Amino acid sequence: MPELPEVETIVKGLKKVLKGKVINSLECYYPGTIIYDTDIEATPFPAKVLELCRRGKYIIITLETDNAIIIHLRMTGKLVFDVLPSEPLQYERARIILHNSEVLHFIDIRTFGKIIICKQQNEEQYLPILGIEPFSKNFNANHLKAILKGKEASIKTVLLNQSIIAGLGNIYTCEILYRAGINPLMPAGKLSHKEIVEIVQQTLAVLSEAISLGGTSISDYRNIDDKTGSFQDFLKVYQKQFCPLGHKIERIKQSGRSTFFCPICQKNKS
Ligand SMILES: [Zn+2]
Repeated sequence: MPELPEVETIVKGLKKVLKGKVINSLECYYPGTIIYDTDIEATPFPAKVLELCRRGKYIIITLETDNAIIIHLRMTGKLVFDVLPSEPLQYERARIILHNSEVLHFIDIRTFGKIIICKQQNEEQYLPILGIEPFSKNFNANHLKAILKGKEASIKTVLLNQSIIAGLGNIYTCEILYRAGINPLMPAGKLSHKEIVEIVQQTLAVLSEAISLGGTSISDYRNIDDKTGSFQDFLKVYQKQFCPLGHKIERIKQSGRSTFFCPICQKNKS
């Protein structure tokens, strides 16, 4: 599933090809992929794209009308930009057509992805409760310490919770905890100040590196040129047999997801 760095990479790519352009229409090839807010007028297009941004793992396209388009790629969704229209491609569930005939294909094998067209004032209704953005100034050790205080759930589970921190998924939480030297089973509320500082620093480091490498392409993720990212070449524990120091990686289940960690490198120091 695309996580923060992948969605950020996609938004960067989309800005180059969509910003300032006029969307002429949306076509849906799989029932339920496009959702229309009930307040949306019968003909929301043409509409000019004003701005694009990311919130958690969501892409938000602000239109010059009072409307917005929210895209959630979920498990296998990808957006591919094309200068020429064509017949619907394999697994293409919807497409956004621009006034100059350029096309943004929404391809999604598993069909969980959604494109929502809503009034800007109704955006919140279509987004889950999203916690702090890692690149916001609120994401610091003191703030995180206050959030984690008293939490008995494991730190891995807490980091995955989108209503606490927005944008982290399974791959990056495994990598962040490895680099921070923290056991993923550690109760979140028991972490020392030093360990929380370490989590904040490693979160920013891992996410920044991943963004600079265009994200991680383990399965379906592609950027809008349909090219892969390359952070998968720099993963240290996720889906690995051995950590960089040669210790055997353990694989356990937490909140239904596989956690990869090194029991030697990730022995808590406190
Ligand atoms: Zn190790």
